[in-house]
Amino acid sequence: MSASLRIDIVTIFPEMVEAVLATGMLRKARELGLAELRAVDLREYAEGPHRVTDDAAFGGEGGQVMKVEPMVRAVEALRGEGSRVILLSPQGERFDQKRAWEYVGLPHLVFLCGRYEGVDERVRQLVVDEELSVGDYVLSGGELAALVVVDAVVRLLPGVLNRPGAARDDSFASGLLEGPQYTRPRLFRGLAVPEVLLSGDHAAVRRWRRKEALRRTLLRRPDLLAQLQLGPEDRELLAEVLREEGRML
Ligand code: SAM
Repeated sequence: MSASLRIDIVTIFPEMVEAVLATGMLRKARELGLAELRAVDLREYAEGPHRVTDDAAFGGEGGQVMKVEPMVRAVEALRGEGSRVILLSPQGERFDQKRAWEYVGLPHLVFLCGRYEGVDERVRQLVVDEELSVGDYVLSGGELAALVVVDAVVRLLPGVLNRPGAARDDSFASGLLEGPQYTRPRLFRGLAVPEVLLSGDHAAVRRWRRKEALRRTLLRRPDLLAQLQLGPEDRELLAEVLREEGRML
């Protein structure tokens, strides 16, 4: 069976990336043949006996910059029909769950990991389709950022998660944060699992989960709630939450 999604992560630290690809859900996706995940050594595309991938920045401010030739050669070798080439960069568009769902529908993703002061601007101009950031902070390299994105995407592939539909219930999937979760024991240091979860009443459990998802989103991310079109049941549940939290609509 051929994998529905191929991902190449181009890096000067393939062993670092490979360690994560060989663990947990990513390993499972590989073993089941659901995703073809590869750490690609950028040095394979560098020339000369030392296979140099970075050089001093022009302009005299000091520091190293990733060279244009190896990155462009790597992309030209890897790219095929339908490939999306993504440069990890703190200056890129912010990665989110919506984009994870977009990427899982593509056949091939190529991630380019910068290091040092960043990547020669001409890489962006010549071969990059989009720049992606994982947040407003600066990492020392693109590898961890690429792995964050790959993990979020691969777990959406059908068959990767143990429970079908698990991804659908996750925070952000429906525009809401997921509510609280419990497992055994039923009572720990005076804190009990809510009775409804032990009741076996599926309709009541579903209603409770929805209400707690609305409560958590209201309290932690009201900006998400403001973007949603709520149906009649949600409006009723939200009104209950607002009363319980002593708030006004
Ligand atoms: N000088 C660059 C700037 O100010 O935009 C930052 C370079 S950073 C030290 C080195 C590399 O780490 C970047 O080229 C990028 O690949 C990666 N990186 C750092 N922060 C990131 C973030 N928030 N999201 C995605 N990639 C990031």
